[in-house]
Amino acid sequence: MAIGVEQRDVVVVGAGPAGAAAALFLKRADQERDVLVLDRLTGEKYSRYHRMCGQAISRAAFRDLSPLKPQNILHRITHLRDEWSDGNFIEFRSHGYILDRPSFLRGMLDRFRSLGGEMRAAALGSVARDDEGLLLYLSDGRVVRARKLIAADGSRSLVRKALFKEEPPAMLRMEQCLVQKEVREDTLTFIQEERYQGGYRWEFPAGDLCCVGFPRGTDTVEGEIMERHRRNIPIGGVRCVERDGVYLVGDAAAMANPVTWGGIRVSMISGRKAAEAVASGSPQVYQQWWERTPLSPARFMEAYASLGKMTDDDYRKASKGINRNPLSWLRAYLTRGEYRHLYDALLLCLRYGW
Ligand SMILES: Cc1cc2nc3c(=O)[nH]c(=O)nc-3n(C[C@H](O)[C@H](O)[C@H](O)COP(=O)(O)OP(=O)(O)OC[C@H]3O[C@@H](n4cnc5c(N)ncnc54)[C@H](O)[C@@H]3O)c2cc1C
Repeated sequence: MAIGVEQRDVVVVGAGPAGAAAALFLKRADQERDVLVLDRLTGEKYSRYHRMCGQAISRAAFRDLSPLKPQNILHRITHLRDEWSDGNFIEFRSHGYILDRPSFLRGMLDRFRSLGGEMRAAALGSVARDDEGLLLYLSDGRVVRARKLIAADGSRSLVRKALFKEEPPAMLRMEQCLVQKEVREDTLTFIQEERYQGGYRWEFPAGDLCCVGFPRGTDTVEGEIMERHRRNIPIGGVRCVERDGVYLVGDAAAMANPVTWGGIRVSMISGRKAAEAVASGSPQVYQQWWERTPLSPARFMEAYASLGKMTDDDYRKASKGINRNPLSWLRAYLTRGEYRHLYDALLLCLRYGW
């Protein structure tokens, strides 16, 4: 073995929602375990990267993350509002939060460190497997040999490419701006029109600002833009999420919901599940969880494909007469068979999509 190679038990690459959750839950499960977290970003660059998000997460998500609690809450959300091009809209009661995501993540990483975990500002440059296990080559020239690797390195995951040779079924290109605009503090607004190509424009409260986003190139933003972000969301899920001690979690495994694009919840829960599989020495339970979880994007991919073909006329027909009265849904469900799978998916999204 080469001299100067550092030996580690578990390395987590990436300190976003998936990596921070994996690291914290692993230390909670087994405080004696040696866990090293790597992230290529620090300071304001890390904050800016993690503000590149609607920062919305449902209250239900925290049931699966207990005893973790929502912290650094900017807004308490009580309603979701869907708007269509003909002016029709519907509001659902749904509870959750807009978090100050960079601070929330830093809080988790602080707790991880207080349990003896180690964090290092370094990028993984490449990864290889040899007879003795995994070798990680870092941007600072160091080489780490790891027994287990949790890959939480986001949409362009280097680990996924190198060790799983699998690409996400689809990659959505997003644009998001923080602007000065009045919005309701308790409501997430989604505007669904043909031009969003099966997606939507979102307008969420973001502290004193409004967070506006849409698929890149489909819309523009008026008013003074305080920050503009561009990033991809991988969707559709990869098939294999564990192989010989390497776990793919969060965006690295394309776990975000294809209809809502919510990815924080499933990222954090996958981080926890991977940590539990490592701690218990049963890697197969992670793959089994992934194949069975109702959060899995596979069941939403048909709706994603259909939404991509929706015209404004389709949206008008599908939403006509629908309001908060459950009977209006039932009537639409029974009489508009062509949209039935979309109604199913939207109702499931209320439960599992954020
Ligand atoms: C515009 C936009 C808005 C969104 N809004 C929402 C929303 O409101 N609610 C929601 O639930 N989801 C939302 N999502 C999806 C959500 O942001 C992602 O699904 C989630 O961030 C995935 O978390 P992750 O930890 O897997 O990856 P990431 O958040 O991408 O974190 C990856 C981390 O890995 C680090 N990293 C990457 N490569 C390396 C490397 N080689 N070496 C070391 N470190 C590395 C990065 O610096 C980063 O810190 C949104 C996404 C976008 C693009």
